[in-house]
Amino acid sequence: MSTNPASQFVLLAPFSGVMVPLETVPDPVFAQKMVGDGISIDPTSNVLVAPMTGKVTQIHSAKHAISLVASNGLEVLIHIGLDTVMLKGQGFTTKVKEGDIVDAGQALIEFDMDAVGRKALSLLTQMVITNGEKVASYSPAKGLVVGGKDAALTLVMVDGVVQNSTTADASGEAYSDPIRIPNPTGLHARPAAVLANAAKTFKSDVKLVRAGQESNAKSVVAIMGLEVQNGDEIRVRAIGPDASGAIKTLTALILSGCGEDVGGVAPKVKPKPMDTIKVAKATPKSEDPNVLTGVSASPGLAVGQIFQVKQVEIEVEETGETPEIERRRFDKALKDAHQQLENLKSEISDESKAEIFAAHQELLEDPDLLAIAIAGMTNGKSAGFAWKDAYNTYSAKLAALKNEVLAGRANDIRDVGLRVLRLIAGIEEAAMVVPENAILIAEDLTPSDTASLDRTRVLGFCTTGGGATSHVAILARSLNIPAICGIDEDALALTNGMPVILDGTRGTLRKNPSEAEVTDIREKQAKQAIKREAELAAAFEPAVTKDGTHVEVVANIGGLDDAEQGVKLGSEGVGLLRSEFLYLERTDAPTEEEQSQIYIDIAKALGNDRTFVVRTLDVGGDKPLAYLPMPAEENPFLGVRGVRLCLAEPELLHTQVRAVLRAAPYSKLAIMFPMITSLEEVREVKRIVAEEKAALGITQDVQVGIMVEVPATAVMAEQFAREVDFFSIGTNDLTQYTLAMDRGHPKLAKQADVMHPGVLNLINMTVKGAHAHGKWVGVCGGIASDPMAIPLLLGIGVDELSASVPTIPAIKALVRTLNKADCEKLAAEVLQLGTAAEVRARLSQLVD
Ligand code: PEP
Ligand code: MG
Repeated sequence: MSTNPASQFVLLAPFSGVMVPLETVPDPVFAQKMVGDGISIDPTSNVLVAPMTGKVTQIHSAKHAISLVASNGLEVLIHIGLDTVMLKGQGFTTKVKEGDIVDAGQALIEFDMDAVGRKALSLLTQMVITNGEKVASYSPAKGLVVGGKDAALTLVMVDGVVQNSTTADASGEAYSDPIRIPNPTGLHARPAAVLANAAKTFKSDVKLVRAGQESNAKSVVAIMGLEVQNGDEIRVRAIGPDASGAIKTLTALILSGCGEDVGGVAPKVKPKPMDTIKVAKATPKSEDPNVLTGVSASPGLAVGQIFQVKQVEIEVEETGETPEIERRRFDKALKDAHQQLENLKSEISDESKAEIFAAHQELLEDPDLLAIAIAGMTNGKSAGFAWKDAYNTYSAKLAALKNEVLAGRANDIRDVGLRVLRLIAGIEEAAMVVPENAILIAEDLTPSDTASLDRTRVLGFCTTGGGATSHVAILARSLNIPAICGIDEDALALTNGMPVILDGTRGTLRKNPSEAEVTDIREKQAKQAIKREAELAAAFEPAVTKDGTHVEVVANIGGLDDAEQGVKLGSEGVGLLRSEFLYLERTDAPTEEEQSQIYIDIAKALGNDRTFVVRTLDVGGDKPLAYLPMPAEENPFLGVRGVRLCLAEPELLHTQVRAVLRAAPYSKLAIMFPMITSLEEVREVKRIVAEEKAALGITQDVQVGIMVEVPATAVMAEQFAREVDFFSIGTNDLTQYTLAMDRGHPKLAKQADVMHPGVLNLINMTVKGAHAHGKWVGVCGGIASDPMAIPLLLGIGVDELSASVPTIPAIKALVRTLNKADCEKLAAEVLQLGTAAEVRARLSQLVD
């Protein structure tokens, strides 16, 4: 393992024991350093551990000696005892094998102290460097040391010996340090696809290693098959000409979540095993014989009639013609399937659904999946048989995994598998003919089935397989129809046409409902629909309270699509563009040109009458960028993130500021800086904006504001208000910093409550401070999308609510029902309450 300063390299004690100078060892081979310089130790423990992270290059056949190489090429030999080779392995048990990558402190060889001690000349154990030309000086420790914990030997490396773990050895092999997986649901299909795609850009053979198991990092299915879960430690191993680059890039990518937002959920400790979330199969049976239960996959209510969907089995010949003919048939089917998926993608407007079919396209290129099929054809099987075997093998492997999310992907492999098989067999995909008001029941619906559903006839569906995170569930939510996954298998026996009530929110299917129940449901549905319709109808009217206060309701967006959707739903602008999306998932920083094009597109979508607040890059140690290596931080949320990072990388900030300013002619542009803690930061970012504005010759007024996310800033709101144009309160971070609770901590989720009076009073201080200097205040944290909180925020005096796009019509409608004077009374009362529970109880009296 390496330490500071950079040229030092520390080897941990391989045993607990007493340090002995190498020169005094009663064996001239070691004492005269013929093998190499190093240390000797008189062991008091009997398990030899690795002194550093490295690869086991050799284990002596007598198991008494082991050689390791560190990622910087340093070679270490450890020899247990003197003359122990004579024991021919008796009393030694190896815990690793040649080629294994081991962590510092990991057990390597265990030995029987009594048996070996009685027969050997001595138990003195030597640890020496066999390629001493890499070492400038040796500093052995003295006295007692603890194995795997204390340093035994500190080396100063000669210049040019790189300390990090990305150096390939002479064989072109490199491997990373252990990487902890930050993704909440592990490396499931999407991050696996991002990772496999990145791995494919390298010529080297790239593998992921987890607990001794290896899989091809260029294969999505192989990565998923490794069942890597949140908190697991894996390594990347690469062999080939660009091995070092592969390790560096893929390590950064994995740490950043492979395209998933892992903002607040990076695990510090390994969470419970994933089978605790295997909810679908664990659903208890209902005690009411008329109710079948499952897992909520998509909320909502539906009253309809059962329609059973059965999958047809496609029979194929086992023996093929020549391997060449079968291969051509197979390649053509793959090509056609790719085209079908391309067509499906372009017919679908919803991006999340299109992504599922893009993932299917990637499966068609998966090296491991194709390798099984091709091997089958080479062995004389027909294309259909070989392919069916390949996708069934893989889907069965995934279905058997404990991780529900990964198991859910088995269905995707079957879906894409069936698509190719139909093409090989020349079978047309038959459209499903369903009756009116159908509630579909199936073992599994493939994403292709759900995408082609006739929305005018299907009201909802239930599957016995899948889970809440399966693609079928995601599709159901995007279609906005209720659905249940993992429903009691008795559902498959229900007769077509039977009347049922599907409650997607609760995960229940009620058979033979009474008239009264149906009426009740229909009334509820009708009420919700009328309310939503009224909200949509009035979406373009301003949000003005009954007593005449206008509150600007704007959108939190992550890109152009959101901006356009927001405009359609009546948003009065954008209160927060999270610009991170421009920076993540890439290997180099976005250029000014690339960025400004996107800012200009969004500004044009909003037009000159709408506000457009762009927040500058907000990343840090918890979300590292591949092209901006940052040292790992003990507490990334308290580290170099947000504006701190941008000020440390001025070029990055100048580029972004210029790109943002170029959108000024197209909307009411404002620029906002995240994580501001000090007035020095404010002065510096204002200087940069002014400098770039002058350089670009921008004449439009561009407001400069800050996010209030740090308690110090809220407390000093008055001082800050003198120097900025506006505040936007980021309650997500303000809550975590005020309450000292990680915003993604699974155990603190309930307590990390924005309704804590401590947080609410800081919001109040921020508003008072801003208004004292005539500045406006927005709220862009999650609280602004919560109807329960709106009367309180209005009462405190918030001027702008920046909410998630779908909630905008409802928030605007709600504001119109309120009286500002009443809200002020409410706020005065609520700010005096003592607990979040009391606040919630008081506010819930006001919502239906
Ligand atoms: C916040 O912290 O409330 C906020 C809006 O910023 P983000 O959620 O992007 O950190
Ligand atoms: Mg924030």
